[in-house]
Amino acid sequence: MAKINSNYAKLAAGYLFPEINKRVSAFASANPGVNVYRLGIGNTTEAIPAHILSGLSFGAEKLGKRETYSGYGDEQGDKRLREAIANYYLDVDAKIAPNEVFVSDGAKCDSANIQSIFSRDNVIAVQDPAYPVYIDTNVIAGRTGKFDSKSGQYEGIIYMPCTEEEGFIPNVSSFRIKTGEKFHGLRINLKADLIYLCSPNNPTGAVMNRKSLENFVQYARENKSVIIFDAAYSWYVKDPDLPKSIYQIEGANECAIEIQSFSKLAGFTGVRLGWAVVPMALAVKNSKPGQLNGMWNRRQTTFFNGASNIAQEGGLYVLSPEGRSECGGLVNYYMNNAGIIRKGLESMGIKVYGEDNAPYVWMKNPNGMKSWDFFDKMLKEARVVTTPGAGFGPSGEGYTRLSAFGHTERVQEAVESIKKNLERTW
Ligand SMILES: *Cc1c(COP(=O)(O)O)cnc(C)c1O
Repeated sequence: MAKINSNYAKLAAGYLFPEINKRVSAFASANPGVNVYRLGIGNTTEAIPAHILSGLSFGAEKLGKRETYSGYGDEQGDKRLREAIANYYLDVDAKIAPNEVFVSDGAKCDSANIQSIFSRDNVIAVQDPAYPVYIDTNVIAGRTGKFDSKSGQYEGIIYMPCTEEEGFIPNVSSFRIKTGEKFHGLRINLKADLIYLCSPNNPTGAVMNRKSLENFVQYARENKSVIIFDAAYSWYVKDPDLPKSIYQIEGANECAIEIQSFSKLAGFTGVRLGWAVVPMALAVKNSKPGQLNGMWNRRQTTFFNGASNIAQEGGLYVLSPEGRSECGGLVNYYMNNAGIIRKGLESMGIKVYGEDNAPYVWMKNPNGMKSWDFFDKMLKEARVVTTPGAGFGPSGEGYTRLSAFGHTERVQEAVESIKKNLERTW
């Protein structure tokens, strides 16, 4: 008799984007013909630049001739692309070898699947607020207890509150141990085994500085924990003192996996391309160096047959000097939008964070308004769709995320509408 994976029933957070859509549809049918501005989801909107596009076309054309046709590619991804990725790490002063790189169809899949090479007994630690994938995949894998709607937390997960006072950066001391917590039905003291970090963070846009990353690396090395570092927005870091890769921290190659994406860099959200780095030096309690690298290879070759060869050809063009300069243009374009949103909100006396080194504006709701109440207010009065901070974790309550991934004209109109129509209650 087949049985379902009952862990799915525990999932509480999956309602975020469906709930947004539900409220937007309800508003649209109650107000036919009224224009709605979307500053909600983090989806790219600008066209892929010419040189990078020619790489994608070239990849497709090669398939049209017997001499250049290729079928299944190399296990870990096109060797030329893995070499180009290894070279990218040299630019940020980190040393990664091509055999430590695994090309994939995106960072979401990698950040979701990476937990499968670790035991179910591992305790995970997450930033709060965070990208929901880290928690949800561990819930599905059975690494948590039930969701407690009062605290907004799952039993058995260590939440690292990222607060305004600490610049929305997680603090290693906040999670050294969580006492009396239930894990697999037992009340025990939890220690973090798998630590998910995302910097620049989605949704807060906060970037971890060198010192805070060093503290996490030190903790991970002392405890044989693993840091899973999602660097999907590293391309938006302007401040040269802020790390773009966890491997800029000494010793990180012994304790960290990095996940990267071409999505927010080159507008590859629909093309699908990313990578994971599993260093040879990485080892945990019951493993030898190289073993986790081999296990991720085994996992990928069993469950996945490689990223599209067209996308990989495009990726090579992205990492070429011409492609990198085109991507710089895209990043500047979205960052200019972020600046427009920030200035508009600040002119209304609203406190905003995040947008310096990330394409998101994280705003503090005026008057301590709850996330969903403010979402409704923005939609009804200004006709702007946002993302309620509470949807990313309990510490996001009272905040709102605004995405800068729109066309500048529309972003400008949205900001004007907020300025004109949002009723000031503060
Ligand atoms: C957008 C995003 C990604 C990128 O995912 P892809 O699957 O590569 O498109 C990864 N992590 C975070 C936090 C994101 O916001």
